[in-house]
Amino acid sequence: MEYFSEEKQLAQAVEVFRASLKSKLYGEKYSGLSVPDSLEAWERVPVLTRAEIHERSFPQSTDMLTQPIEDAIIISTGGSSGIARYTAYTHQEWDAFVTCQAEAMRILGITRQDRVANLFIAGHFWPSFLGLHDVIKKLGAVHLPISANIPIEEVVKLCQQFEPTVMVSLPTLFVFMADMAKRDNFSFPQLRMINYAGEHLSSAAEAHVASALGVQRIKAGAYTSADVGIMGYQCDHAGPGVYHVPTAFQYLELINFDEGRRAGIGEQGEVVVTNLSRVSTPIIRYRVGDVATWTGETCPCGDPNPLIKLGGRAGQDFKLGGGFISLDLFETCIARHSDQLSLNFQLEIEDVAHQFKVILRVEAPGQVAAAVLASLENELFEAVPELRISTEKGYLQSFRIEPVPLGQLPRSPITGKVARLLDKRVL
Ligand SMILES: [Zn+2]
Repeated sequence: MEYFSEEKQLAQAVEVFRASLKSKLYGEKYSGLSVPDSLEAWERVPVLTRAEIHERSFPQSTDMLTQPIEDAIIISTGGSSGIARYTAYTHQEWDAFVTCQAEAMRILGITRQDRVANLFIAGHFWPSFLGLHDVIKKLGAVHLPISANIPIEEVVKLCQQFEPTVMVSLPTLFVFMADMAKRDNFSFPQLRMINYAGEHLSSAAEAHVASALGVQRIKAGAYTSADVGIMGYQCDHAGPGVYHVPTAFQYLELINFDEGRRAGIGEQGEVVVTNLSRVSTPIIRYRVGDVATWTGETCPCGDPNPLIKLGGRAGQDFKLGGGFISLDLFETCIARHSDQLSLNFQLEIEDVAHQFKVILRVEAPGQVAAAVLASLENELFEAVPELRISTEKGYLQSFRIEPVPLGQLPRSPITGKVARLLDKRVL
């Protein structure tokens, strides 16, 4: 991966800054601010918030654009939250994005000989399927554009017929496929690598996918944000959550906002990113919402691009009876019964007359023994004290576990993800 020194990154970032002044948003935001000529001046440039991106992006607003919409692709950058959001890339900017992503996949070991099954969902402006098409083309590998828009049985059949060596999709789909492989006793003899994106893959889910699909190499595609693209990539030496920063593509800063300064090596800071290739909709000093640490280590792979360790992004938390609970706790308990239960689950919480009721729906390949459900319930009440306390205090009206057939939990039609938390409480 190409490497830029910080000096070179800053020079490039300043060019993006200059270009941005043509847009309404940045023209106003930076009025009275001179073009930064030093690192200190750069650090005085106000950060871009998520709300600014969401409210002032195309098509609802043209405030972020520095040029007319032409020679471009419009993609969706959100969907899971229920509110669709979009952004525009010129074809050239899109190409820079997929070039960087392709380089990341080359580093993971995908070659021209690989047959890559593209198992993302296409449509609704969602960029994954199209992006992967361009990435595979750049790698010179063989593209199997199967998609996840078709029934899973057909996905399996086509994968058996075309024998991919690499599959790329969401964890939800890999868990589903692993559940089916265990139930129906099939395998993909040529499959050597699984590459996932879009969701967190817990270690329990990783172990399940590895054993059911018989694949040892399971890798996160990259650390990305739909608003700016790839911000980190892994090499074989990078442990969980550790990524090289593609310095020629993004200028990444880690800021300690409490003290208004950069985070030092080994100290947590918030990710603030400037995309160095995108000028039509500039993204300058965007506060992504993630926390990371510069490791300060030299990677044995020889890549000079620095390493960050991401923090606080792993699982999803929710509030119940005064405490924050990690959904991973539920997953860990469910994983103990993986012979009868899938790791694709959904927790529904609902208000009922000043109390709440909780339903845990779990996909299951067959009939689930009553004893399994009883023991899972006990384990959950053991692992999640808030469940117990809420029952004692009378906040929790009911807790129920409902097995549902494989593939029956609702998926987002746009991304294919199962929403693990359905919080219907009125807040
Ligand atoms: Zn490395």
